[in-house]
Amino acid sequence: MENCIFCKIIKGEIPCSKVYEDDKVLAFNDINPEAPVHVLIVPKTHVRSIMDLNEDGYLLISHVFKVASKLAKDLNIDEKGFRVVNNIGENGGQTVPHIHFHLLGGRLLQWPPG
Ligand code: 5GP
Ligand code: ZN
Repeated sequence: MENCIFCKIIKGEIPCSKVYEDDKVLAFNDINPEAPVHVLIVPKTHVRSIMDLNEDGYLLISHVFKVASKLAKDLNIDEKGFRVVNNIGENGGQTVPHIHFHLLGGRLLQWPPG
């Protein structure tokens, strides 16, 4: 997708601080971290949000959670707990229109969010 910042990162046209990659997802550190661990797990296929997924897309999201659990262990946030967040649309606070999941941890996270 042209002009999509996450597609450009996935293609290597814009640099990122890569944490994990496989054939389906790329995970990298958020440029503006909200917690000591703030990783974005981004499916490599350009889809705006969960509202646009097909059946393969739902399987892909299952894979995202598998990667989130692996990264939580690798980054040592699994024991104290962490959060996986998916913002959708304007009211949901989505600023990049390419589906992604925030993996946040390393501090006590407030609930409910603002
Ligand atoms: P959203 O608000 O859409 O759920 O999250 C988008 C996230 O992407 C934000 O936390 C923002 O800091 C991050 N972000 C936006 N542009 C870039 C970028 O070019 N590189 C990286 N690493 N993160 C970005
Ligand atoms: Zn994209």
